[in-house]
Amino acid sequence: MIAWQRAQQAKIPAWLIGRGSNLLIADEGLPGIVLMTTALRAIQWGEYRVQVEAGYSLARLAQEAGERGWSGLEFARGIPGSVGGAVIMNAGAYGGEMAPLIRNVTALRADGTLKKFERSELEFAYRSCSLRGQAWVLETQLEFSAGDREQILNIMKENLSRRTTYQPLEKPNAGSVFRNPPGDSAGRLIEAAGWKGKSIGGAQVSTKHANFIVNTGNAKAKDVLALMEDIQRDVQVKFGVTLQTEVAYL
Ligand SMILES: Cc1cc2nc3c(=O)[nH]c(=O)nc-3n(C[C@H](O)[C@H](O)[C@H](O)COP(=O)(O)OP(=O)(O)OC[C@H]3O[C@@H](n4cnc5c(N)ncnc54)[C@H](O)[C@@H]3O)c2cc1C
Repeated sequence: MIAWQRAQQAKIPAWLIGRGSNLLIADEGLPGIVLMTTALRAIQWGEYRVQVEAGYSLARLAQEAGERGWSGLEFARGIPGSVGGAVIMNAGAYGGEMAPLIRNVTALRADGTLKKFERSELEFAYRSCSLRGQAWVLETQLEFSAGDREQILNIMKENLSRRTTYQPLEKPNAGSVFRNPPGDSAGRLIEAAGWKGKSIGGAQVSTKHANFIVNTGNAKAKDVLALMEDIQRDVQVKFGVTLQTEVAYL
């Protein structure tokens, strides 16, 4: 927070990121400073509630909640980001998402003031939260429900194994490139348009899952962007669907 305030005073641009798992960064780099939330890792466990800082690992939180028999984050076990990133992105998978767990969010606003936003003051939609670009999430309180420990851990295990089977976890990538359009899947459309396995430079549409672009070794951000633009154009022409990007480009 102090670093951000100093940057503001000195009129140096400051970029806030979590674990960088959903980001494509320009080849030229970013002007100013980049602040990561990884040092914000405090956590307090209550009765089916947890107060957790933005830099805490979402996957770790999911596992720890599951070990306690707390239900709610089963979907999150294989999502590689931070809690703050997950709140801002309303991260989700397998029918679950962050929004139903969130009781409140403490965030730093652009004018430098802190505010605790109650759930009723926040709007969430598919992979979006009304705080995105407006404020920096510092901590959040999440509420779980009572569940069966073994069942929760089994669901997580199954979800993890689905990810290993269907996602190219062995190669660097930034997760799903495009949002799923209503009632359809971006991966299905991209595959049907014939893009699976195609490359520009070191960026390749994964042969495992067409909505992932992997770095085969020397990809530049410009390669990934060029591939994304070509896919968007082609899917629009072939299916009349405008794919919206999910990956954040900085
Ligand atoms: C292999 C793989 C699988 C994935 N699977 C899923 C999935 O199933 N479901 C899903 O939803 N996502 C998935 N993702 C994407 C990503 O993990 C999530 O979006 C995650 O929530 C991003 O968290 P992060 O901390 O890495 O955010 P970052 O990538 O660092 O940032 C993402 C955006 O959030 C902003 N941001 C980050 N932290 C904060 C904060 N504290 N306050 C304000 N803004 C902030 C950044 O400025 C940026 O705009 C996957 C990614 C990978 C690589």
